[in-house]
Amino acid sequence: MIPAPERHAAPDFHVETDTAAHDRRATLVVEIAGRLRAEKQVLAISHEAPDGDALGCLSAFALVCDRLGVACTLYIPGESRFPPEYLFLPGLDGVVRGEAPSVGPGVSVYFFDCASLLRTNSGEFPPGVTRINIDHHQDNPGYGDINLIDPSAPSTTAILYEVLKAGDIPIDAQVATALYVGLVTDTGRFQYSNTTPGAHRMAAELQEAGVDVASVYRHIYESTPLPKLLLLEQALGNLEVRLGGALVVSWLRNEDFERAGADEGHAEGLIDTLRRIHGVRVAVLLRERRRGELVETKASLRSTDGALDVATLANEKGGGGHVRAAGFTTAEDIPTVLAWIERRVEASL
Ligand code: 5GP
Ligand code: MN
Repeated sequence: MIPAPERHAAPDFHVETDTAAHDRRATLVVEIAGRLRAEKQVLAISHEAPDGDALGCLSAFALVCDRLGVACTLYIPGESRFPPEYLFLPGLDGVVRGEAPSVGPGVSVYFFDCASLLRTNSGEFPPGVTRINIDHHQDNPGYGDINLIDPSAPSTTAILYEVLKAGDIPIDAQVATALYVGLVTDTGRFQYSNTTPGAHRMAAELQEAGVDVASVYRHIYESTPLPKLLLLEQALGNLEVRLGGALVVSWLRNEDFERAGADEGHAEGLIDTLRRIHGVRVAVLLRERRRGELVETKASLRSTDGALDVATLANEKGGGGHVRAAGFTTAEDIPTVLAWIERRVEASL
C-alpha cells in the first residue's frame, strides 16, 4: 500500500497571472488526487478517434490504478483500430470499445481529453456516479461533477501528471512514458505554440523518471506502417490548394483507405503534412466514414498562425478543439463541407 500524502505539491506547471484561479485550480488538483487514492472502482473514458494524448492518459491512469489497487475499466467509443504507433503503451489491449460499459453507484468516471460529452458516447450515468472531467480544451463546457480544465496545459497528460504529483503517487518509467507520449504528440514534439517552459520541465522530470526518449521516438515516429504512408499518398493525390495558397484541403474516401490497405487509425497525424506546406494558413483534411447507408464526414482543421480560430469554426458544426487544431463530424458530404470551409476561411483571412 502506498502511504498517504503528507504534503500537497502546488501545481508548478505554468505561469498564472490570476492568483484566485491558480488557487482554485491547485485545490482541485489536490482534491482529485485525494479522491483517486481513495477510489475502489473507476471507469476512465477518452474520445473517439483517440490520439497520443487520449491513449497516453488512459494507459498512465490504468497503470496508476493498478498500483493503487483501484479496479479500473478503460473505454473509448467507436470500433476503429487505434493508431498503431501508440500500441506499445501498456493496457490498451483491454480498452472496451463500442457501447459504454454500465457503471453502478459509487463508481467514479474519469474523462480525459474529452472536450465534449458527445465524443464520449456516454452522457447518462445512474445517480451515485461521480464524473471527473480532466481536460485542456478551452471549449470544454464542464460537464463533470468535478471539472479540472486548464487550457494552458500543453496536454491532458500534463494535468494528470500534476494530479499524480499532488497525491504523491509514484511515477515509474511506464507511467512516465505514457504521460510523455501525450506531451510529445500534443506539442508537436515540443514545437507548437502550446510548448511552455513547463512542458519542457515536465519532459525533463519524466526523463528522470525513466522515459527512454529515443525509444519513444522510434515507436511513434519511425515505426510507420506502410499503409499509413500509402494513405498519405492518397491524401497528397487529392490535395487542392485554394485561396492563393492560404487554404490547403484534402480528403480520404473509403476507396482511398482501401487502396492504401489502411484503416481509420492510420489517418492520425496526416494533416501535419498538409499544414507544413509553405504559405498555408489553414489546412483541412476530411475523411469519409461510410457504414452501410450511413455516411459521415470527419473534419480535421488546423490554423498555422491562429488568425482563424478553428475551434469556433468547428463548433458551428457541433465539434470543437483548440484555436489552432480542431475537428467535427457531420452528415454532410465532402464537397459540401469543403465549400463551406472555403467560404468561411475566405471571409476571415
Ligand atoms: P483531430 O483533427 O486531430 O481529430 O483533432 C484536433 C483537435 O480537435 C483535438 O483537440 C480534438 O480533441 C478536437 N476535436 C476533433 N474532433 C472533434 C469533435 O468532433 N468535437 C470536439 N469537441 N472536438 C474535436
Ligand atoms: Mn489533448
